[in-house]
Parts: sequence; C-alpha cells; structure tokens
Amino acid sequence: FSAIAKPFASWLDIEQFKGMGPRDIHSHKGTYGRLLCIGGNKGTAGAIRLASEAALRAGAGMVRAFVHEKSIIQVSAGRPELMVTSEALEDALQWATCVVIGPGLGQDDWAQQAFEVAMKHCQSEEKPMVIDADALNLLSRQATAFTIASCILTPHAGEAARLLGVSVDDVETERFNYAKQCAERYHATCVLKGAGTIIDNENSVAVCRHGNPAMATAGSGDVLSGILGALLAQGLDTELASRYGVTLHAKAGDDLAARDGQRGMLASDLFSAVRTLMNQ
Ligand code: AMP
Ligand code: MG
Repeated sequence: FSAIAKPFASWLDIEQFKGMGPRDIHSHKGTYGRLLCIGGNKGTAGAIRLASEAALRAGAGMVRAFVHEKSIIQVSAGRPELMVTSEALEDALQWATCVVIGPGLGQDDWAQQAFEVAMKHCQSEEKPMVIDADALNLLSRQATAFTIASCILTPHAGEAARLLGVSVDDVETERFNYAKQCAERYHATCVLKGAGTIIDNENSVAVCRHGNPAMATAGSGDVLSGILGALLAQGLDTELASRYGVTLHAKAGDDLAARDGQRGMLASDLFSAVRTLMNQ
C-alpha cells in the first residue's frame, strides 16, 4: 500500500499525505483486511454502528460487529454490508485481522467479558487493535498494564485522566506530557483527542492542525476509531494509521464545517467527506 507520506513533521496536515493511491487491479476484499468492531451494548448500539460503517467507508475489506443481542437489529438496520453477531466472540476474533473495541461497549459484566476475551486474543495473536471509549475505562481498571504489540489508544481528556489516575484539568493543562505517559505506560500509540489532537508513539509526537468544534458532537470519536481500524486492516502500521487517520477525520470535519457551518454536523456526515479525501 502506498498511502505514504512525505517526511513527517511534528505538525500534521493533509498536504503531508499522498492518499491511498489506486487499488491494485488484482486485489479482492481479503486484501483490505477483516475488521472486527466490538461494542454496542444494549442501549448504545449507535456508537458501534458509526465505527463499523466508518470502517467500511475508509476502505476495510470486510467489517463485522460483535454487539449485545439486543443491539443487533439497530446495528444492522439499513446497512447490509455489515455483518453483525452477538455470539461466538472467539470465532469472530479468529476471523479478524484486526480489532476495534470500545464504542458503546459499556462497563457491565457483558462488556467486561468481551473485553477480557478480546484483549487475551489480541495479545496472544499479536493482532493490531484500536482501544476506545469504554474499553479505555475497563483498561484503566486493570491491575497490571496490558501491552499489545500493535495498539492505538484513543482517549479524550476524560478517558486519559482515568487511564493515568489524574484529573481532567491535569490532562488539559499538560496534554503533551500525559499523551506521552499514556503511550509509555501501555507501549502503545496514544491519540489524545480534542482541539489539536496529539499522537504520541513513544518515540515520535505529532499534532494535528485540522479539526474544529463542529466535531464536538455525539459519535465523532466513534467514527475516528472505525477509520483507524480500517487503516490497520489495510496494512498501515500503528504510527502511520494514527497520523493519517486522525488527519483524515479532522480535515473531513473542516471541509464539512467550511461548507455547511459548525453547528449541526452529524458524525455520520464524516463518512463521505473521509471517502473523498482518501481517494484524492
Ligand atoms: P469523542 O469525545 O470520543 O466523541 O471524540 C470527539 C472527536 O471530535 C475527537 O476526534 C476530537 O478530537 C474531535 N473534537 C471534538 N471537539 C473538537 C474541537 N473543539 N476541535 C477539534 N476537534 C474536536
Ligand atoms: Mg468517544
């Protein structure tokens, strides 16, 4: 894959990326990865639907959602391209080449069990993972720090504060410091979201120039985790996937705000804007 960038600077903007380029004429859906999105507890189906649909729109070959049985109808409604299941998580994990966990996951027993099974599988198989939302909250309760070979954590300031046992104010006043602590603690890429999203890879750090308050709307973080999962599924490493994915997502938000204004954007509006940017 040639999604590849000019030399990285510490500021990220869309001009640094060449886009994904044309697809190989001989490629097939297997070429672009099998992504499993885990979340969507009862009552929070929308979050995993947004992440899963974003992953399809960002070019993942196949996307399956593992959700609570009460969420199946809502997650699959009107999107037959998505495979949705509430059973046999181990089988779904075996099928997957990478995993997104967290959107709408909740923190009850069902969530905890899915979290443990997924973490164990991805650790032993060294499968790339995006950990977001309630999966970050569950991670913060683990006695020992999990490390996964290829892992992107996507906390907002509140989630980062819980992960590191500090206050949200601490995180907001020293964002670089806490992004680094988070990356070091989990040997992961930390995407510390918010105005000026920071991407810390332990040995490199970058800040996204794009993004605006139009994105302060329900579900926009779920869309980001789906995009990141799709990029991992397409073979990008965690560093490039996180830098490119964050930049695509934020620039899509900028393009939509420039066209229609900052108020009233829906997270799902990002799908087509991201698609356009990726194919430029
Ligand atoms: P979440 O809080 O998980 O829904 O994620 C929100 C997403 O929107 C993240 O990608 C944030 O970086 C982005 N976002 C929210 N508010 C702003 C803002 N004021 N400026 C730029 N990006 C924002
Ligand atoms: Mg979120």
